[in-house]
Amino acid sequence: SKAKLFDEKKDIKTSFKDVAGLEGAKEEVQEIVDFLKHPDKYTNLGGKIPKGALLVGPPGTGKTLLAKAVAGEAGVPFFSLSGSDFVEMFVGVGASRVRDLFKQAKDKSPAIIFIDEIDAIGRSRGKSNFSGSNDERENTLNQLLTEMDGFGTNTNVIVLAATNRADVLDKALMRAGRFDRQIYVDLPDLRERKEIFDVHLKPLKKLDDELDTDFLAKQTPGFSGADIANVCNEAALVAARKGNKSVGKQDFLDAVDRIIGGLEKKNKIMT
Ligand code: ATP
Repeated sequence: SKAKLFDEKKDIKTSFKDVAGLEGAKEEVQEIVDFLKHPDKYTNLGGKIPKGALLVGPPGTGKTLLAKAVAGEAGVPFFSLSGSDFVEMFVGVGASRVRDLFKQAKDKSPAIIFIDEIDAIGRSRGKSNFSGSNDERENTLNQLLTEMDGFGTNTNVIVLAATNRADVLDKALMRAGRFDRQIYVDLPDLRERKEIFDVHLKPLKKLDDELDTDFLAKQTPGFSGADIANVCNEAALVAARKGNKSVGKQDFLDAVDRIIGGLEKKNKIMT
């Protein structure tokens, strides 16, 4: 079977409304939406539209969600791939796959290319800890740099890449005309956690009346948006398992405990 190189999505429904909190990051990517929608406004004045931006932050904080929302808001197709899949799945052909990806995106421009876990391909040369061929990774990285350098000012493809390890990235990626903007996507604070709960409670059908998202936000310090989405889903499952007719405070507390249990297990494996 043929492994899939990248995913192409049209008619993205995700919008900034789906992204809770992250006000600063949303403001920065709003500009990218405007570049995609009205490139002439910028190029007419001689401005160079940026080719890439790096979304930097811990896992599960909404980097992929935000990138998808940019495509949704601009009404452009979303080409995505993950750096780690890339390195594992396409031994020997990484560079040619990168070329294909950029060709397709350019054909359908304006477009967004999203590279998740860019550190898997973009680690600084000589610092790789991955066991595959380092030449392969470097060829893939070099092709990515070549593609970005080859964009003309009117290509109108913007590359967003996500990482939680900006410190290990090859500095060549951050040079002017490549990923020369960094946008921070941090863990949510108390108020942002409440907003994320508000978003993820919506799909739950029957909630107890006294459910208080302030309270839930206070119970979840250090949780990412992905953890909170998990809590909401898990609470519904817990309630159903108990045979309850609606989802209530205790179900959420049980769900929070389960997620914390899961996080602790993960940390144990990692250390
Ligand atoms: P990773 O680094 O693990 O790839 P990420 O930062 O790309 O993570 P996402 O994949 O965007 O995180 O987040 C996973 C899910 O968590 C989202 O699909 C969404 O359901 C939820 N989520 C994360 N952050 C937010 C947020 N700010 N607002 C609403 N939902 C969020």
